[in-house]
Amino acid sequence: MRAASQREHDDRRGSSHSRGYTYAWQQARAQFLLENPLCAEHAKQGRMEPASVIDHIQAPRLREARESGDPTRLAAAQQLFWSRSNWQPLCKHCHDSVKQRAEKSGRVVGCDSTGLPLDPFHPWNRSRPGGGGAKNSTPSRP
Ligand SMILES: [Zn+2]
Repeated sequence: MRAASQREHDDRRGSSHSRGYTYAWQQARAQFLLENPLCAEHAKQGRMEPASVIDHIQAPRLREARESGDPTRLAAAQQLFWSRSNWQPLCKHCHDSVKQRAEKSGRVVGCDSTGLPLDPFHPWNRSRPGGGGAKNSTPSRP
């Protein structure tokens, strides 16, 4: 399979490995996704989507902790990395887009079951038809 050879490649380069994504992680990840097969973000919206990645709710920043040389910080990072209470199953789409946007902007991201964004400041919720103010469609930056 392509995924397996890609993983070996990453391990050899040390990129994913240095962030803590070892063989042990792959095993733990597979087990977790077996037990939690649905995307948590989609589930919040009442939708069912198969999860394919584990997201760390609080980023462990394992590599930064290692590089800092601070054993307390490293222990805390490892704890975060391996703590299942810090894991949530996500589909690839949610992991790549929704989560990153939420971290960067602090906004509520996603839609409710009617398809309207959950974020009350989303332009769709601000500029209703006839409500005026629709001119200001400049995307806000962090
Ligand atoms: Zn999802």
